[in-house]
Amino acid sequence: MSLQSERLETLMQRLGLADMAQAYAALAEQAAQKNLSYYDFLERVLENESHARQERNIKLRTQMARFPHPKRLEQFDFQFPTSIDEKKIRELASLRFLERHENVCLLGPPGVGKTHLAVALGMEAIRQGFSVYFITVVDLLERLVQAQAEHQMPKRMAPLRQCRLLILDEIGYRILEQPATTCFFQLISERYERGSMILTSNKSYGEWGSIFQDNVIASAILDRLLHHSHTINIKGESYRLKEKRKAGVWTQPAAEPSISGGGV
Ligand code: ADP
Ligand code: MG
Repeated sequence: MSLQSERLETLMQRLGLADMAQAYAALAEQAAQKNLSYYDFLERVLENESHARQERNIKLRTQMARFPHPKRLEQFDFQFPTSIDEKKIRELASLRFLERHENVCLLGPPGVGKTHLAVALGMEAIRQGFSVYFITVVDLLERLVQAQAEHQMPKRMAPLRQCRLLILDEIGYRILEQPATTCFFQLISERYERGSMILTSNKSYGEWGSIFQDNVIASAILDRLLHHSHTINIKGESYRLKEKRKAGVWTQPAAEPSISGGGV
């Protein structure tokens, strides 16, 4: 390495331009080959640094969001569910609901892609520069109830309150006890009209009373959640079963009509 390269790299490291330190030599070579002007060269170097920073930022925020697995809207087969409002979902992907602090509820039976769509919208939000946090309702409430017992509520609530988009997955898979219901109500109230949420549930709104074991609090929660919200009802069979059927490890029960007529 020449002395000048060493000096350049020291300067770049000192200025926190780690990506530039990696890329400048190749860019300088390209510029020489293509006879680029000093301005063009500088522009390319800065563009490269800006792009690399943006990608690093997206990666970091994706890690912080704690998605269970990465999912994209392009990977979702809208022909598979028997009923889904594709236009509405594509509209939601524009993220105007986030700017308006509105909520999205994805309802439907297991395996129809509720979590997939919630994560896909979350990943899009990250690409557009928003902060996102994903958590299942069971994990969330365990954490909040513990925080309450340890008098740590304000501290533990902070990230849930502050992120621009909070994704609460799987409401209704377990009945909630009274302390958990109170914590849930508090969180919903704190985010009300301040930050968007995406919720997924296998239960219709009419059944939410039984999740919280208290119709009064269930309707207070629904009241706040649904005041400014979009509901997406997804109907169809589980995509997981489709994949199992394809692999030959699941056969449709004889009593049910077979979709393909062949049964497998
Ligand atoms: P749910 O949350 O409704 O139970 P998931 O979103 O977890 O369902 O979906 C289960 C699996 O099936 C995931 O791997 C998901 O990516 C996939 N999946 C579900 N629906 C579709 C679809 N319409 N197109 C592509 N993949 C799908
Ligand atoms: Mg799910």
